[in-house]
Amino acid sequence: MTAVVLPPPKTAYDIIKVMRAYLGGEGPLATDLDLIRRLLPLTQFGRGVKEIKPPAPAPWSGCEGALVRNPDDATEWGIFYNGSARAERQRFTIAHELGHFVLHRDRQADFNCDKRSVYSGSEPAGENPNPASSGRNQSLDLFVTFGAGVRE
Ligand SMILES: [Zn+2]
Repeated sequence: MTAVVLPPPKTAYDIIKVMRAYLGGEGPLATDLDLIRRLLPLTQFGRGVKEIKPPAPAPWSGCEGALVRNPDDATEWGIFYNGSARAERQRFTIAHELGHFVLHRDRQADFNCDKRSVYSGSEPAGENPNPASSGRNQSLDLFVTFGAGVRE
C-alpha cells in the first residue's frame, strides 16, 4: 500500500465539511469529535476501517492518549485517554488521537502519546510517525485547525 500524505490543515477542513454535510449544511459551534469519530470510517479518511470504538480511559498508567488497532481485527481501532485529566484535556487528547488515525494509521498499529507529545506538539523520539519532518506534530496541527471546538 502506498502511503498517502495528507496535508493537515486542508484535511481538517475537509473533515469539517463532511461533518457539516452530514448535519445538512449547518456547522455546530464546537467540533463534534464523537460525530467525526463515527463518520470517519464512512469517508475517504477512514478507508478500510469498519469502526473507531468510543474513547475510553486508559487502563494503564502513564498514558495521556493512545490510538490502537485491534490486533485481531485490523478494521477496528480504539482511542484511550488519561481518565484523570480534566474534561477539556481529555477532549484535546481525543482530537490528537483522531489526528493520528487520519494521518498516520498506515504507518503504525499503535500510538502511545505522553503528555508532552499531546500538548506541546512534539512527539518523543521514536514515536514521531514522520521523523523526516521538523518534529512538529502533524496530528496536533490537524486539530489545532479544528479550532476552538477542541478547547471547550
Ligand atoms: Zn501523539
